[in-house]
Order: sequence, then structure tokens, then C-alpha cells
Amino acid sequence: MQRPFPIEPVLQKISEYVEAFQLPSVTHIARDQHSPLYVLVSTILSSRTKDETTLVAAQRLFEHVGSARDLEALSEPELVRLIYPVGFYRTKARNLKKLGRILNERYGGLVPQNMAELLELPGVGRKTANLVLALAFDADAICVDTHVHRITNRWGYVATQTPAQTEMALRKKLPSRWWKEINTVLVSFGQQTCRPISPFCSTCPVSNVCPRKGVLRKR
Ligand code: SF4
Repeated sequence: MQRPFPIEPVLQKISEYVEAFQLPSVTHIARDQHSPLYVLVSTILSSRTKDETTLVAAQRLFEHVGSARDLEALSEPELVRLIYPVGFYRTKARNLKKLGRILNERYGGLVPQNMAELLELPGVGRKTANLVLALAFDADAICVDTHVHRITNRWGYVATQTPAQTEMALRKKLPSRWWKEINTVLVSFGQQTCRPISPFCSTCPVSNVCPRKGVLRKR
């Protein structure tokens, strides 16, 4: 019989391994600023955008935005100028302006703390909502992005087709102490080592237990 994948020792090992790497941009902002609004906005900016681009654009925007009122007050062209060149910057600028208005009208300028209300905000899907809940509110939430989805499938820990399916599978079996952390740990690991195409298996700290499911090429 196949032995179960040793998820806890593996995540522990990888979390120590990635300490030398730069933190993912949104985690960096969350730890640095302690602002739910900044976590939400930077998560929206980070979609389809390289980490270093997200960080620079977010920092430029936050020089002008300290509250939801500031966000609403900026015009769309101003927002475009501040967040360029993040991916889909025009759509994101439109969504950010709407976001500022909705936060002011419905939530007194604060970011809501539950999944249902977060999902009603413009530009917010499950991935963003889970990251905001985990990083801004310390809630038990699992943010499954492309890295978490890919790597947990390579390990054979889940066998799923989409990030949404991965989230549901992880909610059933991942020990809760890793729910908030798994995204931060595997984003860094996925960017540096367990890359989408041709991962660096020869230097990987967990190569001795990884079945490399679906990996066609490796270094
Ligand atoms: S051995 Fe390769 S596929 Fe497995 S976790 Fe490490 S880098 Fe990823």
C-alpha cells in the first residue's frame, strides 16, 4: 500500500528552506503595514502580475492612499498611472475606484471580514478573499493560487483539476496549523524551485519524498 504523503514534515522543511528567499509581495505588505485595505488592494494588484511589479506599484499607490476614501477620491486615469504596469491595469483601476466607493458606502471604509461579503467586492475571487482572511484577519482560510495547486498535485497530496477543487480537498485533509501559511510557503517555493516548467528537483529539499506527479521535464 502507498504510504501517505508526509505533508507536515515537508511543509516544515520548505518553510525553513524559503526563509532565505524574498517574501511574496502581499505577505511582505501584510507583515509590514498591518492594514486590511492594503492587503486587499495589493492582492488585487498581484493577479497576473510579477511579484516585483506588484510591490513597486502597490508602494506607489499607497503613497496616495491611506483609506478607502482616498481610493474613491482618485480618478481612474490617476489610478491607472499609479498602478501601471500591473496586469490588466485599466480593469483593476476601474475596480479599485468602485472598491473604494463600496467600502465607504457599505462598510464604513473598512474591509469586511467574511468570505461572502468579500466575494461581492469588485475584482475579488476566492483566492483574493482567502488571502485577505488569512493575512489581514488571521482567520483560518486556505488561499490556493497556481503554485499551491500545482505543487500539492505534484506531491500527489491532492488529485484535482482546478484551484477551487484543490482548496476544497485541502480543507478536508490539511492540518489546520498550515492553512494560513501554505500560500506564503509555496508561493516562494514555486517561484524559486518547484517552477511550473522544468522544476529544480536536483536541489529540492524534499526530492526524496516527492513522486513528481505530472512533471515531464526537470533540472
Ligand atoms: S522534487 Fe521537483 S517536483 Fe517535487 S517538490 Fe521538489 S522541485 Fe517540485
